[in-house]
Amino acid sequence: MGRNRDAGVRRHIGKKPYGEYSYWLESCGDDLTPRPGLKGSLTVDVAIVGAGFSGLWTAYYLLQTNPSLRVVILEQAIAGFGASGRNGGWCTAEFSRSITSLVKRYGTDATRLLQQAMFDSVDEVGRVIQVENIEAHFAKGGMIEVARGQWGIPALETMIREFEMVGLENRVQYLDRDQLSSRIQIAEAEAGVFAKDCAVLHPGRLVRQLARVVENLGATIMENTAVLEVIGGKFPRLITGHGDVTTKVAVVMATEAYLTALKPWHRAVVPVYSLITLTEPLSHEVWETIGWTNREAIASTRMTIDYLQRTHDGRILFGGRGAPYHWNSSLRDEYDHHRATHKVLQEMVKQWFPVLKDTRFTHVWGGALGVTRDFMPNIRFDLRTRIATAFGYTGQGVATSNLAGRILNELISETPGNLTHLPMAQHHSRLWEPEPLRWAGIRYTQWALGRIDQQSQRLQKSPSGSSLAERLNVH
Ligand SMILES: Cc1cc2nc3c(=O)[nH]c(=O)nc-3n(C[C@H](O)[C@H](O)[C@H](O)COP(=O)(O)OP(=O)(O)OC[C@H]3O[C@@H](n4cnc5c(N)ncnc54)[C@H](O)[C@@H]3O)c2cc1C
Repeated sequence: MGRNRDAGVRRHIGKKPYGEYSYWLESCGDDLTPRPGLKGSLTVDVAIVGAGFSGLWTAYYLLQTNPSLRVVILEQAIAGFGASGRNGGWCTAEFSRSITSLVKRYGTDATRLLQQAMFDSVDEVGRVIQVENIEAHFAKGGMIEVARGQWGIPALETMIREFEMVGLENRVQYLDRDQLSSRIQIAEAEAGVFAKDCAVLHPGRLVRQLARVVENLGATIMENTAVLEVIGGKFPRLITGHGDVTTKVAVVMATEAYLTALKPWHRAVVPVYSLITLTEPLSHEVWETIGWTNREAIASTRMTIDYLQRTHDGRILFGGRGAPYHWNSSLRDEYDHHRATHKVLQEMVKQWFPVLKDTRFTHVWGGALGVTRDFMPNIRFDLRTRIATAFGYTGQGVATSNLAGRILNELISETPGNLTHLPMAQHHSRLWEPEPLRWAGIRYTQWALGRIDQQSQRLQKSPSGSSLAERLNVH
């Protein structure tokens, strides 16, 4: 019975070894053997669902605040199975909504504070990595957004103006063609903006080692344990196929994109697949040609987001959106691979870096990230149901999940500090539309943004900003 019920929630988990889900899991330095799962019912203080960054950071800060708290983390697969073990490894202060839209909605001061909290989160991740001796190849080299063609320059100018709008212009620097090419050689690169608050890291090593750190602090992680139902109340309860977990303080839903698989949250978040390709390690000579010695995170101004990392072991990771949204927000193992999107990513690697024309790609993978209807993360603790949530980072979750963990700690431990005043604390996004509207809207936007990118490049003309897709995508 238990196994059958689990199969329903876990249908997006296939049978392949966990190391095959991403290069990061493959190279994380441990053998990914699952920890024992839940056997029978138990009572704890806090039960966290999901052993990715959100769940682990929340456990970390809760136990720092109150070391005697009994914390259990229930994970349907293994720690790091989700986006945390598969992402582009950007630990960035970039937030899921633009500064312009935040200022419009929350005002200049609140936006500056939010942005400051994001800067701090990048450093906080670096600090914990250092104090806990986590070997995650953290390198804070900043981020460069690159205009490949004159048509991308207005987007860079907007970026600079946004930082000026909130008095944070000292965080960014415009790079003309020469300044940019002294850092990195990218074909057709016209200019860039350097933002200093970004690091790159090995997310697989971070998530797997953070799990051990949290265990050393006293948390118990139970793997291969899917939560099937959540019942809120004075003593909220988690139902699994192997027993129930009753809690005295709180349940924390830290399942990000996967939250959609649980009925009460089905329309709270949509899973969007982001895909990655990775080159073989590049030779010393090739790196001499490309430069990129500071390992800055790199992206371009395209609407169909792209993100690059020079890895610690000398490869180029090239990730991007563009894989299609699936009907009814479904999640499946096979969606991690989309041949057409992976092919485009590999072609782009060769266009950006012509010196790589004969380079081999050793890995392709992908995963789902969670997007809310207003692109705001929802970091909440409902005192009535005693259920907390942290989701909706829209692909900017490596640093934001750390902030989410600290916000949830303040809310759950009842030690409110400055973080609970941030706009995403106790934020409730409106629900996504029901199908078929959701499918039609998202698929249209994905298709139209891709077309705008192609046209911009072909005609060397900046996007107008007024097309339907751009307006639907404003955030
Ligand atoms: C390909 C890709 C690239 C990305 N690149 C970047 C990047 O470069 N920088 C950045 O900031 N962000 C990036 N992101 C986003 C970032 O990885 C995520 O926002 C972040 O990892 C979310 O962490 P999380 O712990 O909330 O969720 P996850 O890491 O997805 O963890 C959720 C966990 O919950 C478990 N779970 C789900 N349902 C259940 C259940 N019912 N019962 C028990 N367990 C359950 C899952 O197995 C999973 O382990 C990327 C995402 C993807 C997919």
